[in-house]
Amino acid sequence: MKGFEYLQEELDQMKEQGTFRNLIPLESAQGSKVKIKGKEVIQLSSNNYLGLTSHPRLVQAADQANEKYGVGTGSVRTIAGTLSMHEEFEKKLAEFKHTEAALVFQSGFTTNQGVLSSILGKEDVVISDELNHASIIDGIRLTKADRKIYKHVDMGSLEEALKESKDYRTRLVVTDGVFSMDGNIAPLPEIVELCEKYNALVMVDDAHASGVLGSNGRGSVNHFNLDGRVHIQVGTLSKAIGVLGGYVASTKTLREYLIHKGRPFLFSTSHPPAVTAANAAAIDVLLEEPELIEKLWENTKFFKDGLTKLGFDTGISQTPVTPVLIGDDALTHKFSDELFEQGVFAQGIVFPTVPKGKARIRTIVTAEHSKEELQEALDAFEKAGRKLAII
Ligand code: PMP
Repeated sequence: MKGFEYLQEELDQMKEQGTFRNLIPLESAQGSKVKIKGKEVIQLSSNNYLGLTSHPRLVQAADQANEKYGVGTGSVRTIAGTLSMHEEFEKKLAEFKHTEAALVFQSGFTTNQGVLSSILGKEDVVISDELNHASIIDGIRLTKADRKIYKHVDMGSLEEALKESKDYRTRLVVTDGVFSMDGNIAPLPEIVELCEKYNALVMVDDAHASGVLGSNGRGSVNHFNLDGRVHIQVGTLSKAIGVLGGYVASTKTLREYLIHKGRPFLFSTSHPPAVTAANAAAIDVLLEEPELIEKLWENTKFFKDGLTKLGFDTGISQTPVTPVLIGDDALTHKFSDELFEQGVFAQGIVFPTVPKGKARIRTIVTAEHSKEELQEALDAFEKAGRKLAII
């Protein structure tokens, strides 16, 4: 069929440059080891921080919900698709997050889009860290508000932006709690202080901090004892929580406003019962099995120390998100392929997900990995790294 020739040209170009990638299907459940192309490999690329994707309590909750409520909801939340379990879960989540209210969206991505696009108008300005997640960037693109970008975690640059934006109705500063590509934690105490000084509001995306930082995994805001001083917390239910969805935890007013104005919430069908039941069970697990988070951090330290000892550059990571910085896109993919040969699945992250020249293998260990698996993975990194003269 004729048409869209330029798309094929661009794909061919990516193939020439070595940046074209096929999707890699898993042939097993997510876990510390997964089966890919018929081979068992150590999984270092998932966001399944606590191993909850197959935790028996979550699976059982999902099974029971399927049995009792069926597999779908048949409507958007605002028409006929709100189940009582949706609202019960939101109450539970708000309590967990120490906020007045919470609202669940279909994904973390649509949460950022829905929140940012609806709560700001042309009388407002949004001030965003330059390395914020794509969903924040896209959410900002959808607002009519003015926008300013400050240098990554640079408080001088943030203060400058705040000073330059005095005459707005709302000044909203947005930041990832944990940055998804470098694994560093945003300097929230400084950000909050600056915002209080300049009368600005703060929104934190805790996609990589929920279930990881703070007491029982309450996130970066709780980690820094800033409960009650951050206006909007958003995050995902698809990483440490192990299931699917996004949430906003904030005031009752914001929740009610988003129910009326948050477009992905308004115009997209609600979560299936099994998803919500499993999400709720995940919060119980966070509250009742804190040892999972301890194990996650123990494993992170072991693996990160091992990589550093081998001579790899893990950048500025402070969390389980541990990049191994390579630089060149094609070499990064080659390294990832070599690791696969050695029995490790660790995907390369290249442009446009990270800037040109900043390609990396992004590793995330989970609470499920055994020390033996992590040592095996380190041995594979050493072998592949030496072969490609990266170390
Ligand atoms: N925000 C951040 C910081 C993320 O890393 C991600 C996940 N890629 C999202 C939002 C989107 O979350 P979800 O996968 O639930 O759409």
